[in-house]
Amino acid sequence: MKKNIIILILFMFLVCFLAPVYFMSCDTNNKKTEAGIQIFAFEYGKSLFSKKHIYYNDNSNDRVDFSWLFYLVKNGKQLILIDTGFNDHALIRAYQITAFQDPAALLAKIKITPEMITDVIITHSHFDHIGAVTLFKNARIYIQKDELNYLKHVKKNALLKNAYRFVETNKKLQLTDGALSLDKNVYIEKTGGHTPGTQIVFLKNGNKNYIFTGDECYLPEGCTNARLSGTVYNKTNNLKILTELQILAKDPDVILLTHHDPLLDKKFIRISKHIIQIL
Ligand SMILES: [Zn+2]
Repeated sequence: MKKNIIILILFMFLVCFLAPVYFMSCDTNNKKTEAGIQIFAFEYGKSLFSKKHIYYNDNSNDRVDFSWLFYLVKNGKQLILIDTGFNDHALIRAYQITAFQDPAALLAKIKITPEMITDVIITHSHFDHIGAVTLFKNARIYIQKDELNYLKHVKKNALLKNAYRFVETNKKLQLTDGALSLDKNVYIEKTGGHTPGTQIVFLKNGNKNYIFTGDECYLPEGCTNARLSGTVYNKTNNLKILTELQILAKDPDVILLTHHDPLLDKKFIRISKHIIQIL
């Protein structure tokens, strides 16, 4: 009887003291969230950029810090890129980009090869968002119908010509006209302000909502102040989404992720020179 009581006390000790320690250590050793979602921002270059091009009707001659970013979402078995960056010497020179890194080399730093990417969402077809799409040969490509048509007609250089050919002939091309859910966590919405078929991406994780804005706003302030984008195809559409995002961003559980924010590492953790972990 006495022996049973000792065993019971020992058992209670294990359950009450050791189990929480075990689970806590599991939790702290694994940065993945409950749903297994992780988000990384890849900063593949930096430059200065004219405010005139960032904000419509800005008459200053100021140039401000500007980052060049694309994102990776690890969502269970899916590896989703939101835009691709680019690698083209003439464009790197033209935009005076410093600390440039090739997108594939950046992915390799977290042990991901281009072939492993399952999905590529193209917010819009400007060179810095679609330029490296040809690297991702196994991926399903998501682009709006209007955007592919726009790319077909405005493609000016070899980089964009190749991107168009690659996307148009992609066997898993997901050509969309409007909204699309990839799954219960990831949702695409056509906004069509910055370019005819710009789409933005919503990612839900628990009570947090991450919104990848493409260049509807270049910098978060563009969205939170609803300032028209300096490069704008349709002002009405641009203002509509900016006004919506301005309201959404008042919620502390909404996180706006733009593709040129130079201050991303002030809000999230820089895990290496060119990589910032958002989640
Ligand atoms: Zn851009």
